Amino acid sequence: MPARMQEFLTAFEAKKAKLKSIEENRQKLMLRQKDREGELASKEEGIKKSQSQLGQLKTNKDYQVKMTEIEGFKADKSIFEEEILKLMDDNEAAKRDADIEKKNLESEEKSFDEKKSALASRLKEIEGLLSDLEGKRKMLADSVDKKILERYEHILHGKDGLAMVMVKDNSCHGCFLKVPHQVINEIKMHERLITCEICARILYLEEDLVS
Ligand SMILES: [Zn+2]
Repeated sequence: MPARMQEFLTAFEAKKAKLKSIEENRQKLMLRQKDREGELASKEEGIKKSQSQLGQLKTNKDYQVKMTEIEGFKADKSIFEEEILKLMDDNEAAKRDADIEKKNLESEEKSFDEKKSALASRLKEIEGLLSDLEGKRKMLADSVDKKILERYEHILHGKDGLAMVMVKDNSCHGCFLKVPHQVINEIKMHERLITCEICARILYLEEDLVS
C-alpha cells in the first residue's frame, strides 16, 4: 500500500513539475516582452527626437543623414513590434497550457486525496485484522507442543509462509504432486507429523479439520 501511495504521489509530482516549467517559461516570455517594449519605446523616442531636429538642419546633406537615421529607427521599431506581437501570442499559448495543467492538477489532487484516504482506511482495516490474527495465533501457538511448533515454524520460514497443506484427490496442495497411498494411511494414523516427500510441508486431510 505505501508503494501504491508512492505511485500516485510520483504521478502527481510529475504533473506539478510540468506546470512549474510552463510557468517558468511564461515568466521568461513576459520578461522578454517587457525588455522588447522598453527597446521599442527607446526607438520611438529616437524617432521623435530626430524629427524635432529636422527643422534646425541647415544643409540638404544633414537633412538626408537625419532622414536615414529616422528610417533606421523605424525599421528597428517594426522589428521590435513584430517580436512583441509574437511574444504576446506565445505568452497567450503558455497561459492556456498553464490553465489546462492547473485544472489537471486540481483534479489529480482531488483524486489523490480520495485514493489516499481510501488506502489509509483500508490499511487501518488490515492492521486491525492483522492484530486480531496475531493475537489469535499467539493463543493457539501457546497450546501447541513446543517441539512441533518449532518444526512448523522452521518449515514456515523455509517454504514461503506455507507450512501445512491439505492432501486432496491424492495430491499435495503445496507442490501439487501425487501423495502415495501409504503416506495417506500414515496421516490417518495420527501418530506423528507426516510431511510431503517432495516439498517437505506438513500434510493433513480434509477430514482432519476441526471447525
Ligand atoms: Zn508437496
